[in-house]
Amino acid sequence: MSYDFRTQRLHVDAPLAAGASIEADRTQANYLLNVLRMGEGAAILLFNGRDGEWLGRIAEAGRKRCVIAVEERTRPQPEPSGLHYLFAPLKQARLDYMVQKAVEMGAGRLRPVLTRHTQVSRVNLERMRANAVEAAEQCGILSIPAVDAPVPLERSLGDWESGRRLILCDEGAPVADPVEALRAVPPGPLAVLIGPEGGFSKEERTALLRQPFVTAVSLGPRILRADTAAVAALALVQAVLGDWKG
Ligand code: SAH
Repeated sequence: MSYDFRTQRLHVDAPLAAGASIEADRTQANYLLNVLRMGEGAAILLFNGRDGEWLGRIAEAGRKRCVIAVEERTRPQPEPSGLHYLFAPLKQARLDYMVQKAVEMGAGRLRPVLTRHTQVSRVNLERMRANAVEAAEQCGILSIPAVDAPVPLERSLGDWESGRRLILCDEGAPVADPVEALRAVPPGPLAVLIGPEGGFSKEERTALLRQPFVTAVSLGPRILRADTAAVAALALVQAVLGDWKG
């Protein structure tokens, strides 16, 4: 692996540059000092989603105050991932999980879509963004994926960005080799779509399958839970068409 994934990471909003001094917020200070019991001199890798990854050291460790001195940049800011992940929002705990896994799997933009059988109508965007940051911290991902507000599926399709292919994970598709199906996708920007616990409605499936930009894939002979399907689909896409190819 080409980067240090052992050192504790911290996402901050402040600009990062050599010699900068960053004050951790109260939650972060408590976590670093009281949970992780880090003290002065301890190393931390900082990122803000814009300036790359920087090595910092705790310069001040008060009871509730933690100031980090920024020393040097350890990794440049990479290009953000262009992979869009569209999904019907799930109930809270599974949505937390699915958002974190989509970020770990390299999604660059999270796009909740409302479908006929979607079981939730409102999503907590702040919570989704916090989950995206947490996954980035844990996996050393330096770009924080964008998290969109939910839109109806029809509107996503109606406003579809030209040139982007949509990989539809269709639980109604006949079982067929998904690797072969993905190999037939022309190079270019991609999106993956996972439906709700209740699956796609007949009308939605018809509307999706007639779109010229859609490639339907089967994820095998078993019906997967939506959050399982998310990881399976993103693994396939990254392995066949994405950044797992090295
Ligand atoms: N009616 C089932 C379907 C839900 S699966 C149920 O209620 O559990 C949720 C989503 O995961 C589907 O809409 C699809 O996007 C994906 N998915 C699950 N299993 C799949 C499979 N075998 N092939 C393709 N997609 C699948």
